[in-house]
Amino acid sequence: MQREGVALVVSAPSGTGKTTLVKRLLAEFSNFGYSVSCTTRKPRVGEVNGRDYWFLSREEFERRRDQNYFAEWADVYGNLYGTPLEPVRQMLHEGRDALFDIDVQGAAQLKLSLGEATFVFILPPGLDALERRLRGRGLDDEQAIQKRLDGARWEMIEARWYNALIVNDTLDKAYDELRAVYLAATLAPVRNRQLVQEMLSR
Ligand code: ADP
Ligand code: 5GP
Repeated sequence: MQREGVALVVSAPSGTGKTTLVKRLLAEFSNFGYSVSCTTRKPRVGEVNGRDYWFLSREEFERRRDQNYFAEWADVYGNLYGTPLEPVRQMLHEGRDALFDIDVQGAAQLKLSLGEATFVFILPPGLDALERRLRGRGLDDEQAIQKRLDGARWEMIEARWYNALIVNDTLDKAYDELRAVYLAATLAPVRNRQLVQEMLSR
């Protein structure tokens, strides 16, 4: 019997390990459709247009934003990011789960527009560890690292309205917690409206 799709929204300060955890979840559960965001950021080495992001010019992004193409959008460290609305609606309607890897500003907008979404915030095990991971990842220059560390403080204050908090200290433990939150969401009565009736009719 088909259930309704889960909208799983995952936020974390940049460098926490969110991409690592989300990739693992997508690899384990094939029912996920990934919500590919649009961004005005330049592609990083290895990133593919249409798989990691849709890379748009600022003009094109603003044009789509003004036509209400996005379910949410935000300015993150000077680049614009947005979630296309239509593919998400389609996915959930078809009973596929949708994963949103978005920042706290975008998550707050989705909380208003997608009432039944599950919001997970991944915390670093401390600001020192976060700095080590940002440096270890080797993607950002010094200025970008400082910006991301400053951002982490106010982003983490927003964590209190999420449904689940996961500290990414040991990767395996954090992953077990993420999959537990996801599996619990798939079992919610709102996503399985016909289940009781069906069991009663057997
Ligand atoms: P984000 O998507 O949150 O910016 P990434 O997934 O790119 O973060 O991870 C940032 C860096 O931290 C990567 O080099 C990754 O391998 C490393 N990392 C992720 N999780 C852990 C962990 N639990 N312990 C140590 N390093 C980690
Ligand atoms: P990065 O440039 O490192 O890929 O992402 C930077 C930040 O932008 C991350 O916190 C990521 O979650 C966020 N982000 C990615 N896509 C979207 C989106 O569609 N909307 C919003 N609001 N944030 C996004």
